[in-house]
Amino acid sequence: MRVLLVHPSPLMYSEVYLKLEPLGLERVAQALRAAGHEVRLLDLQIFSHKDYVRELDTFKPRAVGFSLNYLANVPEVLDLAVATRSRRPETFIFAGGHSASFITGELLEHAGGALDCVVRGEGEITAPRVLEALGDPRLDTVPGVVTRTGAGPAATMLEDLDRFPPARDLTRHRRRYFIGVLDPCASAEFTRGCPWDCSFCSAWTFYGRSYRKASAEGAAEDLARIAEPNVFLVDDVAFIHPEHGFAIGQEIERRGIKKEYYLETRCDVLVKNREVFEYWQRLGLRYMFLGLEALDEEGLKAHRKRVTPGENFQALEIARELDFTVAINIIADPDWDERRFAIVREWALSVPEIVHLTVNTPYPGTESWLTESRRLTSLDYRLFDVQHAVLPTKLPLRAFYEEL
Ligand code: SF4
Repeated sequence: MRVLLVHPSPLMYSEVYLKLEPLGLERVAQALRAAGHEVRLLDLQIFSHKDYVRELDTFKPRAVGFSLNYLANVPEVLDLAVATRSRRPETFIFAGGHSASFITGELLEHAGGALDCVVRGEGEITAPRVLEALGDPRLDTVPGVVTRTGAGPAATMLEDLDRFPPARDLTRHRRRYFIGVLDPCASAEFTRGCPWDCSFCSAWTFYGRSYRKASAEGAAEDLARIAEPNVFLVDDVAFIHPEHGFAIGQEIERRGIKKEYYLETRCDVLVKNREVFEYWQRLGLRYMFLGLEALDEEGLKAHRKRVTPGENFQALEIARELDFTVAINIIADPDWDERRFAIVREWALSVPEIVHLTVNTPYPGTESWLTESRRLTSLDYRLFDVQHAVLPTKLPLRAFYEEL
């Protein structure tokens, strides 16, 4: 069957500092190819809506699947689904991805019949099953599938991360993918899931707090296939298990792979597993993103970050000693006043790291969605990009944005 997988356009502000290859969609594409389908992938971070229409007309897919990892892309995907339905009424149209998984009912309702189903959870196992069940009225009993008539049980998770290596040959104009100064930059995944449970994050609810690892050989083989000189590791928290990081590193050395790397991790993991980061520094690790989230004990507790300010500052010291370029995130709460912003600004200007301020945003799938969503000032998902306030601000909104 001809299948077209589509990644939506970049988010309003993020394209200034990153454009990442659609790794999740590439893995789903590989799973579909393994099931015998002819797959194309169109990334609207790079191509236009006109290109999409051209692809529909020339490739004539029997099925179109949209990835929806960010809420801010919901309106675009719904518009594209509606346009696809009217242009090719017989085409099966589905959506999946991180954000889609938490708002399945809303998506189906707002699509008004343009979406045949939404896939919850990981797509590698479910997407081939969806296509296998095409035309079968029992589609709504497939694990991970939600239709307007019903919902199957929870999706089956991928047990073996080596099983479907990303179909990177399907992404065109790969040189346009970058993060910061790592340009061009590919992406890779060593582990999936997170064992922590921060209140603002939906990574742990999406993966059911599971934590899975690629084999060291599989991870290194995948890196060896990457043509780009730079790699962004998409793992939510890199090197939780240092022995895994060492094992992959040894496979990299054995293969003589030379790249520069960017990863994300937690401060307490960096403190506890300093040696593995030191080792990776020698392998080419240059940049890291640390989610500090708050400078004070009270803020860290509110986010259930399970670290202390002392550990956070110790991690920054280690990163400086190891000569990493570090970007930090601090979560700005809508109830911050000028004084609170001033404290954070003063600190940010006193440290060598790049400090990002993102706005505390209750996302579907997070605990804060359950506790805060009644107070939302907007349900326009385009504003759910952690750059906009969607909860009432203590300062007048304009003043809040000026401080931000
Ligand atoms: S913020 Fe990071 S550490 Fe916390 S749950 Fe999410 S991925 Fe895990």
